[in-house]
Amino acid sequence: MQTHTLIIGAGGVGNVVAFKCAMNAATFGTITLASRTWSKCDAIAADIQAKTGVTVSTAAVDADDTGALVDLIRHIGASLVINVALPYQDLTIMDACIAAGADYLDTANYEHPGEAKFEYREQWARDGAFRDAGIMGLLGCGFDPGVTNVFVAYAQKHFFDTIRTIDILDCNDGDHGYPFATNFNPEINLREVSAKGRYWERGEWIETEPLSVKHVWDYPEIGPRDSYLLYHEEMESLVKNIPDLERIRFFMTFSEGYLTHMRALQNVGMLGIEPVEHRGQEIVPIEFLKTLLPDPAGLGSRTRGKTNIGIVAHGIKDGRERTIYIYQVSDHEQCYAEVKSQAVSYTTGVPAMIGAKLMLEKRWYKAGVHNMETFDPDPFMEELGRQGLPWQVMELGDPNERRYL
Ligand code: NDP
Repeated sequence: MQTHTLIIGAGGVGNVVAFKCAMNAATFGTITLASRTWSKCDAIAADIQAKTGVTVSTAAVDADDTGALVDLIRHIGASLVINVALPYQDLTIMDACIAAGADYLDTANYEHPGEAKFEYREQWARDGAFRDAGIMGLLGCGFDPGVTNVFVAYAQKHFFDTIRTIDILDCNDGDHGYPFATNFNPEINLREVSAKGRYWERGEWIETEPLSVKHVWDYPEIGPRDSYLLYHEEMESLVKNIPDLERIRFFMTFSEGYLTHMRALQNVGMLGIEPVEHRGQEIVPIEFLKTLLPDPAGLGSRTRGKTNIGIVAHGIKDGRERTIYIYQVSDHEQCYAEVKSQAVSYTTGVPAMIGAKLMLEKRWYKAGVHNMETFDPDPFMEELGRQGLPWQVMELGDPNERRYL
């Protein structure tokens, strides 16, 4: 039977997913890219045709409309839907997959449009419906969440009997030349960064003031960078799925310039998500800010420098303590040369394609709704190297010699 794959969302990540699926067309079969704005899909399809010779079909769809999605999935005969629209659409797309009997994959957990809060609860609640329909949902299959979950599973499988602590370290050292821009969707990005921090220790979530906890981490191929504690969604599933874990934290780098802009915008109310009245019209400040900021999809051609995202796991192997660092470095310019997207979109889109590939090949397949770390990490790690995201493992030695400066 011919495979049909539907990709939803023609943004920065959707561009990479569509490119990479086309580069693996033997697995993905007929590919359709659908988004709210049809012309964006057509522009991406034209680039893919020119570069790879593969034809990608396109469609317009409002992914907030479950009925419209069901019609599209059935019309195409899609067996798999890759959701790289926004986290606000996760539930409508999952419900459409249940109704139409298609497998589902996303890269970010559900976020309520009116509330700056993201969590897996409502997606996990669909596990029974996915099982009943005999379909699979793979959640959070980008880089972080996504590859970071797989790095943890790989560390658990190959280097530890027990992992005690995990630090997830995300550094984007790219420079796009603008005074201020976000590397992915500004609403999602700024809501995440300006929220309170949270980490998990001995069974409890501990809240911290926004950007109040800082470490300096020496990132291979980049150097020492200020790294701030944030809440990040992969921790929610990892604390459930990694037994005997005592602590997990997430750190992301920000330059002083970025933080100064963000604080000023926050102070004047531009990050607000509640509508305000402006000259008789209601506007949501952060949505208006998104209109003003450079389109993340357009940053690719200007961005120089590297990203380095990884995990540091500390624990016990054969009665001895050890610390393992697994990381991946990507170069913005190299990503752009390959698929016309910068490294943040690239490092999200490539894992989404890999997860989808493993699902279609039934190497990762079980009915229900699942997170990444519940699968064997080895096939995913092999594909990472093959599909453009080679990774490294480093032993950091005695925990007292950790390289936090
Ligand atoms: P963009 O804003 O660039 O793209 C999102 C796309 O979704 C746009 O093309 C947009 O439509 C489309 N879209 C939005 N709403 C709808 C709708 N109602 N119906 C149909 N299409 C819609 O975002 P990114 O590409 O940067 O991010 C995509 C996803 O990836 C997000 O969920 C983000 O959170 C996630 N992400 C995950 C990461 C990870 O490591 N796990 C890292 C970075 C991002 P339009 O056609 O109008 O343009």
